[in-house]
This record gives sequence, C-alpha cells and structure tokens, in this order.
Amino acid sequence: MQEEKGLGVYNVVIIGAGTAGLVAAAGTAGLGGRVALIERNKMGGDCLNYGCVPSKALIASARAINSIRHASKWGLDEEEPRFEFQTVFESMRSRRAKIAPNDSIERFESLGVDVFLGEARFVSPHEIAVGDQILRARNFVIAAGTRARIPPIEGICDVPFFTNETIFDELHKKPENMIVLGGGPIGCELGQAMGRLGVNATIVQVHEQILPKEDPEVADCMETLLEAEGVRVLCSSRAVRVSMREGKVQLDLVHQPRGGHESHTMQIVADTLLVSAGRVPNVEKLNLDPAGVKFNPRGIEVNAYLQTAQPHIYAAGDIAGPYQFTHTADAQARVVVRNILMPFQMLRQEMDYSVVPWCTYTDPEIAHVGLNETEAKQQDISYDLISVRIDELDRAVVEREELGFVKVLTAKGTDRILGVTMVATHAGDLLHEFVLAMKHRIGLSQLAATIHAYPTFAELGRKVGDRYSKKRLTPFLKNAFTWLYRRSRGAAGFTFPRVEAAADVFSGKGG
Ligand SMILES: Cc1cc2nc3c(=O)[nH]c(=O)nc-3n(C[C@H](O)[C@H](O)[C@H](O)COP(=O)(O)OP(=O)(O)OC[C@H]3O[C@@H](n4cnc5c(N)ncnc54)[C@H](O)[C@@H]3O)c2cc1C
Repeated sequence: MQEEKGLGVYNVVIIGAGTAGLVAAAGTAGLGGRVALIERNKMGGDCLNYGCVPSKALIASARAINSIRHASKWGLDEEEPRFEFQTVFESMRSRRAKIAPNDSIERFESLGVDVFLGEARFVSPHEIAVGDQILRARNFVIAAGTRARIPPIEGICDVPFFTNETIFDELHKKPENMIVLGGGPIGCELGQAMGRLGVNATIVQVHEQILPKEDPEVADCMETLLEAEGVRVLCSSRAVRVSMREGKVQLDLVHQPRGGHESHTMQIVADTLLVSAGRVPNVEKLNLDPAGVKFNPRGIEVNAYLQTAQPHIYAAGDIAGPYQFTHTADAQARVVVRNILMPFQMLRQEMDYSVVPWCTYTDPEIAHVGLNETEAKQQDISYDLISVRIDELDRAVVEREELGFVKVLTAKGTDRILGVTMVATHAGDLLHEFVLAMKHRIGLSQLAATIHAYPTFAELGRKVGDRYSKKRLTPFLKNAFTWLYRRSRGAAGFTFPRVEAAADVFSGKGG
C-alpha cells in the first residue's frame, strides 16, 4: 500500500532540486525507492534557471550577431546587425522554457518522487523540517548548491548589481556599459556575450590572468580575442570601493600593470555592475549542526564515497565540490544513488575524478581535460607536448573557423594522454574523443589508426595522433625506411634487422 506523502519513513530525502538533487531523486525512484525532494526556489536549480541554460542560449544569439557583423568572412556584405536587446533575452528565456518541463514538479511526481516546496532544515540526524512538516528517512542527500559570492568591497551593499541569479530575468534594457567583476568562466562568457550585444563591457579580474585554471598562453589568447572584440580586460585589478555617481556605478580599483610597473588606482564608471566573483555554498539555512554534518567555507566535507561526517547523509553537486559543473553534479548523484542502495561500505563506490572534462563557452570555446602544462610542471610530471593549430584542419578553413589550437600532454616517451586543452569553435564537443581515449586508456597511436571522416573538425583527433607518430620517426628510422625503398628498387644489398620495430610506428602498435 502506498504511504501518504510526507508520512512514514522515506528511503531518501533530498535537499535541492538542481542537477544533483534531480538526478538522485529520479535514480532512486527509478530503482523503486521511496524518495522526497525539497526545493525552496525553482525546480532545476542554477543550471536551468540561472546558469548553463540561459547563458548558453544568450551566447548562441551573441555568436549569431557576431557572424553578421563579420559576414565578409563568408563573402557576404558586412553590416551592423539589427536586433532588439530585449527580444534576444526573450528568445533566451523561451529556450529555457522549452527545457524546463524536464525538471518540473509534474515530471518528478510522475516518476514517483514526492516533491515539497519550501526551505529544508535538519532537526536531527534523521529528520528534516520543511515548513510545518517533518520528513524522516534512512538516508539524506544534501544537494543545496552554491550562490554568487559577493566580495567584501566597501560600498557593495549600497549599489545595485546583477548576479547570475538576476541578470537573465531582470536586465530589462540594454546598458551602454557594464563592469563585469570577475574574469573566471562566467565573467568571460557573459562579458563577451554582452560585448557582442553592443554593451561596452569591462572585465575586472583580481588574478594576473583571466580563466586562472587554464595555462597562461590559453588565457592570453582569450584575453587578446576579447580585447579585439572591444571587451576591455583589466587583470591584476583589485576592486576596493564601489559607489553611485550621477546614477552610474563607480568602481575604484588598484591596478598592477604588466611588466613590473607601479600599481595605481583607477576608476571605472558604468551603467551596470555584474558580480561574477566566485561561488559560496548554501550551507547557512540547512542547520547542519544538529545533524552532525561538517562543513567549511568551501562546502560540505565528504569522503570518497560522498558521505558526510554522518555516513547516512550524503552530499553531491556544487555544495560538495571539488568541481562545480552540471556534469560532475550528475556523476556524483549517480554514485550516491548506488551507494545508498549498497548495504555494506565495502560494496560502495568511490567517486572517480580521474577524467573530468570542462568547457568555457566563450567563442572560441576553451575545453579541458586532465593535466595542463602548468599543473604538470607544478607536480613535476615529465611529459611530451603535441600541439596542432585549428587552421591545419581543412574543415576549419572552409568554415572560416580557423582560430585556436589543441595542446596534448602525453606521458614522457609514450602515447598515453595526460591532458588536453583545446581552444576552438567546437572545442567542447571535439574534446570528447580525447576524454573517451583518456578514460579507456586509448593512446594517440590508436587515434591515428582510426579512420576519421573528411572534412570534419573531428579530424583533429587523428591529426594529433599523426603528429605523435611523426615525432617517433627518428632520423635512424627514416634512414631505415629509405634503405627499404632503395632495396625494393633493387639498389641495396644488406638486411636490416629492426624493420618490424620501425614499421610499428605507422601501424599504430607503438607506445
Ligand atoms: C552563469 C553560470 C553558468 C554555468 N554554466 C555551466 C556550464 O555551461 N556547464 C556546466 O557544467 N556548469 C555550468 N555552471 C555550473 C552549474 O550550474 C552547477 O554546477 C550546477 O547547477 C550544480 O548543480 P547542484 O545540483 O549542485 O546545485 P544547484 O543547481 O545550485 O541546485 C541547488 C538547489 O538547492 C536549492 N536549495 C538550497 N538550499 C535549500 C534549502 N535549505 N532547502 C531547499 N532547497 C534548497 C536551491 O534553491 C537550488 O535550486 C554554470 C553556473 C553559472 C552560475
């Protein structure tokens, strides 16, 4: 007999209906578990409402606008694109609305999940309150996510500003100019999109480079491209004060110019301020102390099985880290579903972060998996580097998408991939051949030996493989091949014992 909603004991109660919570809820219900899902705001969490979905929809319109602006690349007349700022935003919201039903209450209730709207707080290690209701469960999943970090700058509380939670729904008219505080992925993506929509955007970045997780040359390349599009980028710039001046926002900052020059103070004045300066975990309202769950400023502390200090309480998604992506939230939630089902710890699965891709959706995109050069050097890992420029692909040339490159790090002297960084129009999609290769230990020789359709961007995988094979063609081997050719023309007279080894270079068995 089915128990009444909210009564009795659930197998799992989940806090937060973002990616991690939704995947955990659907997974548990799909396996026949009794599950409750609590959401205090909008179903779908950040990704659907204030993150990936609206940002990528806006970026797609911005890219189209940019193509029109540079139409002569395709042999067309160049013209200034005509568009209404608000209509572009409406189009973005309509795309989001198209995806929203996947995360809706109706869908989840139809899957057998009891959805509760309200703020969840622990009252004991086995009970959660949502409004007047107390929910009891064998296990809990904390998937309460993060929110924009508001840096402690003097005056910040006295000026209006946007964050990712407001910009997609509350920016009602095109600002002339915008300060984007923070040059991480969100700041760069939105700064570029705003620039393409005709806003004079200035990205203010406290670190020496934008996108601090990428190699300096990757960040420099993106900075140059942004500047070329008219987006001003100020690195090594620490915001110290923000105030209102004649209806505009004034940001005072200390800027350290490149090349060892003296730092100096600067002011930037703009109509609008977008704060994209990192994330903080939503832990405050959860009342974690009575539950015995430990947390720190970065989020909830979990072990490799994603259990908190209370083994029956799990955490997943941004609030647990170490990555803050939709796909890692999804992957963690799957591990949590499985681990909750397992009766013994020995049967539980550790979360595997060995191959985690990510992409920054600037144009061109910057996609990444595994080690980059900076990390390899910091960790003292010896590597070989293979680089291919995107304009070496015929498809990129005919599509006029020639900007960018790929850098592949392999374990020294072998074809085993340690990491890939790609700057290219379709980098987020192209990366996955390498992601699969890394996950399943497929070497570059095997990529080279795989037939790729011509002309595709995907040929990049084969080109990298070819570049590796070419590197193995030492002068000694080349001489051996030359000798073989000569011999087949009847021009040589002795046998070469290592011919088979040499031929491996081209058969893909090497490495
Ligand atoms: C602008 C932007 C762009 C992004 N783009 C990408 C991208 O392109 N690709 C990518 O992989 N990632 C992207 N991300 C990151 C991605 O959105 C997050 O990694 C993902 O949403 C994390 O999911 P989550 O389930 O951990 O948390 P969230 O999606 O934040 O969901 C947490 C939910 O918990 C609810 N909640 C919190 N506290 C309580 C409580 N006490 N009671 C009840 N409910 C509560 C919140 O209301 C929220 O709905 C982007 C993020 C931003 C901000």
